[in-house]
Amino acid sequence: MEDCLFCRIITGEIPSNKVYEDEFVYAFTDIDPKAPVHILIIPKKHLKSILEVKDGDFEYIDAMIKAAQKIAAEKGIAADGFRLVFNTGENGGQTVPHLHLHLLGGRYLEWPPG
Ligand code: AMP
Repeated sequence: MEDCLFCRIITGEIPSNKVYEDEFVYAFTDIDPKAPVHILIIPKKHLKSILEVKDGDFEYIDAMIKAAQKIAAEKGIAADGFRLVFNTGENGGQTVPHLHLHLLGGRYLEWPPG
């Protein structure tokens, strides 16, 4: 999708601070971090949100979770804990309509969110 911000980040048309990439996913640091570690993990297929994930797309979800495990270990936040979040739709606080998994850590994260 040529007008999608995150699709343009995947192609390199828009610069990003890449932390991980494989056949299925791309991961980069969030431009406005909400925690010491705040990384976005996105599928290389344009899916608007978790609601659009269908049979056949789950290899992307598998890869996103595996990437989160790897990145959390590499960033040294796995032992202390971290949070994975799929904001979905307006009430969920989703602002970019390309599926993304937030990986947040490096400090104690309050619950519930505001
Ligand atoms: P959400 O609000 O769940 O849709 O998350 C979108 C996230 O994308 C926000 O945390 C933004 O800070 C982040 N974001 C927006 N534009 C960029 C960008 N160009 N590079 C990195 N992160 C971005």
